[in-house]
Amino acid sequence: MAVKKWEGSDNDITIEVDYDKCEGAAECVDVCPVGVYELVDDKATAPNIDECIECCACVEACPTGAITHSSC
Ligand code: SF4
Ligand code: SF4
Repeated sequence: MAVKKWEGSDNDITIEVDYDKCEGAAECVDVCPVGVYELVDDKATAPNIDECIECCACVEACPTGAITHSSC
């Protein structure tokens, strides 16, 4: 299972992306209002997780259900 995980520096938020499901069309990058996501090799990464405001737009926008967010 190719699931990659990011944790906030306060250990309050966790984002997981299932790379078996991620298609790299970047809806998450486009909808996140604070720029948490970046595409790397056509896969979503969440390097700016500490900016997250827990709005859940990324989870709702992902067409393949690849994102698991601890707050959503
Ligand atoms: S919206 Fe989902 S499928 Fe698209 S790049 Fe982001 S995680 Fe991958
Ligand atoms: S929950 Fe909202 S702020 Fe956090 S990563 Fe997803 S879209 Fe961005």
